[in-house]
Amino acid sequence: MTPTTTSRDVRGACPHDCPDTCALVTQVDHQGVAVRVTGNPAHRHTDGALCTKVSRYTERTYHPQRLLTPLKRSGPKGSGQFEPVSWDEALDDIAQRLGAIAARDPQAILPYSYAGTMGLVQGEAMAGRFFHRLGASLLDRTICSSAGGEALVQTLGGKVGMKVEHFAQSKLILIWGSNSIGSNLHFWRLAQQAKRDGARLVCIDPRRTETADKCHEHIALRPGTDAALALALMHQLITHDWLDHGYIERHTLGWEGLRERALQWPPERAAEVCGIPVQQIVDLARAYGTTKPAAIRLNYGMQRVRGGGNAVRAIACLPALVGAWREPAGGLLLSASGFFPVQRAALQRPDLLAGRRTRTLNMSTVGNDLLRESSAEFGPKVEAVIVYNSNPVAVAPESAKVVQGFAREDLFTVVLEHFQTDTADHADYVLPATTQLEHWDIHTSYGHTDVLLNRPAIDPVGQARSNTDIFRALAARMGLDDPCFADDDLTLCRTAFDGKAVDFQQLLDQGFATLNLPEAPFADGGFPTTSGRCEFFSARLAAQGQDGLPDHLPNFEAIGSSTQFPLAMISPPARNFLNSSFVNVTSLRDIEGEPVLEIHADDAAPRGIQSGQMVRVFNARGEYRCKASVSRRARVGVVNGLGIWWRKLGPDGTNVNEVTSQHLTDMGGGPVFYDCLVEVAAA
Ligand code: SF4
Repeated sequence: MTPTTTSRDVRGACPHDCPDTCALVTQVDHQGVAVRVTGNPAHRHTDGALCTKVSRYTERTYHPQRLLTPLKRSGPKGSGQFEPVSWDEALDDIAQRLGAIAARDPQAILPYSYAGTMGLVQGEAMAGRFFHRLGASLLDRTICSSAGGEALVQTLGGKVGMKVEHFAQSKLILIWGSNSIGSNLHFWRLAQQAKRDGARLVCIDPRRTETADKCHEHIALRPGTDAALALALMHQLITHDWLDHGYIERHTLGWEGLRERALQWPPERAAEVCGIPVQQIVDLARAYGTTKPAAIRLNYGMQRVRGGGNAVRAIACLPALVGAWREPAGGLLLSASGFFPVQRAALQRPDLLAGRRTRTLNMSTVGNDLLRESSAEFGPKVEAVIVYNSNPVAVAPESAKVVQGFAREDLFTVVLEHFQTDTADHADYVLPATTQLEHWDIHTSYGHTDVLLNRPAIDPVGQARSNTDIFRALAARMGLDDPCFADDDLTLCRTAFDGKAVDFQQLLDQGFATLNLPEAPFADGGFPTTSGRCEFFSARLAAQGQDGLPDHLPNFEAIGSSTQFPLAMISPPARNFLNSSFVNVTSLRDIEGEPVLEIHADDAAPRGIQSGQMVRVFNARGEYRCKASVSRRARVGVVNGLGIWWRKLGPDGTNVNEVTSQHLTDMGGGPVFYDCLVEVAAA
């Protein structure tokens, strides 16, 4: 940026994997240095406030360990030994090596990315074009939300729900599987407003979170039993006739079957499965059946178990049963992302595959897939991985296998990163990428219904280049000369909505624009399903051989199913981290201290474990070490391994994913991080 005589404010968007998608204002001084990042007060969802993590964004941007030059491996794989090289040397060599692999079989090249940025441009726009043109393997991006997303699609017809702003007028809010204070802060402000106006807040979560502390009631069910609770609520709605018969008749499909299913779930049965008092279920059902408007804020934690898709489907049926959708402040919100008419094909250009049928690999089983040989069933062995916006060595399940895969000397690995993460340690080349303050992007949200534009506030730090720029440069060196590789980032931002639904000039002028949607989108039905109804019964699931009605599927590793590993473990995020982002920001890591396992006193005492003591958390897949916190935040029989620490910053170079498995959810092919039995012992 050209130096100016005065400081200036630049409007942007938070890029992190968080439903709030805040509007940012970066204050840049006259020398072009970002001095402060704050929330944009003009954006109603942000309301001028950011979370602690992102208010430290300048500390992250100018971090002394920020990657500033391309690096080439100079030691054994995984050793973290690198030497600086020029961009030309790095790009020439990468292009040559990818070209040689692509000449044999481009499917041996695997892109690996997720939501390190949620931006549509620095995410999959130019990267998608590059990998499609090459004919590389496709990646099924499942690691966070695919079970719940698929469940919403099968039930409501899309990732759609009530508008978040109306939670402020709800009279009963079920906060289900969400530590909103930690991971959905701006929703929490609305819930607080509702509470001040007399609403009752109920938190449903195995962990007694900071959010649970501030709700009127906490229901600490066992992990993976949410569908049983939802079915028992339906049982009570039916037997007490707290149903909206008119809404059910006109706007739902499969009621008779669901009714029969729910009647098999009296509260006593669900209480046994969920490990909670019968009366708690009865009281919750009464509140839900008789309070209007009632709203559910569901989040993705509860779908990271074998039956996660079924659980989301069961919960997503509840609002239609009581007619909650009739009012703006009633219904359910898991994700609003399906409302945005993003022109993904124009951005990512799958047509560049030109009819080639490439395989799709699931990112949640990368540990297994990197260790597979070529076969007729699998296709070619993976020879190259290009990682961007992700840190799989820290975040993918069953770390031992993931590390083994990335440590393969014959695997060519390129990592686009801001920092030397656990994954970057395993790279052949590490390429320094720009942060959100240094590039253009455009954002949707899964927690509200505004589009945000992100302008670059400062010049790239060091020699950092944007993801788009790196993929453009690789395409040029590999002779991929399709005109689409010449699109600049602002053109890509415009392409995202193609002038439809969003006024781009408004984005340029104020930084955000609101989708034009009804206040109560399903008051008169009109769900985006094939039938136009809320589908209690899904013919599509039935055609796939699944149960067409939602049911409770016990965990792969249900409590009581193993005497060797008697404790269920969930691994929710530590409050000051966002997955593995921010773990290296010193001021935030200082707040968290060190990796912690929360354990209930009744589980700690027989194991001789005290607070502050180092413990081993282990099962047949592996073992990690952390500090015990004997805490009322853990329920009996369930331990909370707060994540996700970088392995190299944890004791013994391990983290919580040493013990998680590569099993997949019932729908959507998602990971089952919270379906995990362990034992804990003093270290
Ligand atoms: S992480 Fe979430 S709450 Fe924090 S600034 Fe980003 S969008 Fe807002």
